Amino acid sequence: MIEKAKRLVRSGRVERISHDRFNVVGDHGTYTVFQGVDGRVTCNCLGFQSKGRCSHAAAVIYLTELFDKQNR
Ligand SMILES: [Zn+2]
Repeated sequence: MIEKAKRLVRSGRVERISHDRFNVVGDHGTYTVFQGVDGRVTCNCLGFQSKGRCSHAAAVIYLTELFDKQNR
């Protein structure tokens, strides 16, 4: 899952559309990922609804961790 998340980020398929919202273009459609003030992320895809995690949410976590490192 983390490799897929990194691939999504590297191929530019994660787009920040506001301070707490991201568009992620997945293999089966575009999903919206929210990040709360506590850093928790939620995605509106079916995988997240059933499992509580998905590659889109993981991609957003990966991306924001990259930002944090760059800003430190
Ligand atoms: Zn998802």
